[in-house]
Amino acid sequence: VIRCRAAVAWAVGKPLSVEEVEVAPPKAGEVRIKIVATGICRTDDHILEGCFPNVDFPVIPGHEGAGIVESIGEGVTSVKPGDKVIPLCLPQCGECSFCLNPESNYCLKSHVSEPQNLLPDKTSRFTCKGQQIHHFLWVSTFAEYTVIPEYAVAKIDAAAPLDKVCLLGCGFPTGYGAAINTAKVKPGSTCAVFGVGGVGLSVVMGCKAAGASRIIAIDINKDKFAKAKELGATDCISPQDFKKPIQEVLIEMTGHGVDYSFEVIGHTDTMIAALASCNMNTGVCVMVGVPASGSVISIDPMLLLSGRTWKGTLLGDWKMKDCIPKLVSSYLEKKFNSDLLITHTLPIAKVNEGFELLRAGK
Ligand code: NAD
Ligand code: ZN
Ligand code: ZN
Repeated sequence: VIRCRAAVAWAVGKPLSVEEVEVAPPKAGEVRIKIVATGICRTDDHILEGCFPNVDFPVIPGHEGAGIVESIGEGVTSVKPGDKVIPLCLPQCGECSFCLNPESNYCLKSHVSEPQNLLPDKTSRFTCKGQQIHHFLWVSTFAEYTVIPEYAVAKIDAAAPLDKVCLLGCGFPTGYGAAINTAKVKPGSTCAVFGVGGVGLSVVMGCKAAGASRIIAIDINKDKFAKAKELGATDCISPQDFKKPIQEVLIEMTGHGVDYSFEVIGHTDTMIAALASCNMNTGVCVMVGVPASGSVISIDPMLLLSGRTWKGTLLGDWKMKDCIPKLVSSYLEKKFNSDLLITHTLPIAKVNEGFELLRAGK
């Protein structure tokens, strides 16, 4: 058993509390990892706000990390102690019918189909003050040590800087893949990205890499526009500067609407605006933002009947165990610069400050 620090969420709406926790050794098929760095994704904040009633508290959140294997359980073959790894918040068992389908990145043996808060054997490896603490998405990267099923861990290049490539655990691949894999943005096309936080900026990078000629960033926080432009946005607009709905503004700006639109906020009204702002016949709209559970959307069916395609994406449609190591290699070859997404670096003791910065749009 390892004693270390972790940021524990004891209850909805409360700040995280940095506690000493006990982390049990990995069981068969599991890996114990020393987490070196973790990003903060808005999904962690959704948890703290209680947007997902199926998440049980107390829980250790965090799902965008990188670390080093400390020990392995019986039967583990793909990693060994000392290997640099990225925990995968979407696993890849490689055996289920979805994993065997080349078009799917969803694994049936995932926490998405099962209760999210315990490891596959329905137990926890974390305790604190004598109490069992729940896992989050099987990865819980806000702990200095965490235990994860082997098929939710990807070995990466030993040269990778862990404080940088942790972003390849969620935010960057989600946004970049939403453009490249999910929408399959074509060269010369026009794109609109609703919400340019960490994930939306990664969509902008993906659209640019795919050769889009016009990329319109939409955000209510204009402080995001300088970075969006640096990463490839050609136009930046705030819905608050217009009296008419933003979809009408986008249709006027582009003639017949954009070729590809992305909702990267998680609000139902912006999901409909994003859908309505793409070309009525050939437009593709990708839903990336996570809405609060129980949200319902009501739309005019003509929006789809006229030919539009409406899709969603989990983690940018990458098969995670196969693709994350390749993305790390591309990072090392400087094929993209996800470092530009890093705004602040804080010690774990200041994790709540990190959330305050996220909520303040900084
Ligand atoms: P973020 O908070 O950093 O970014 C959201 C941005 O949206 C902010 O810049 C904010 O100013 C802007 N915004 C808010 N309301 C707006 C409005 N009405 N109109 C225009 N802009 C508005 O969040 P993030 O970390 O980039 O995550 C974005 C979303 O993606 C979240 O919902 C998160 O849960 C989701 N997400 C989904 C996946 C997936 O696999 N599908 C993976 C990671 C994150
Ligand atoms: Zn995330
Ligand atoms: Zn699988």
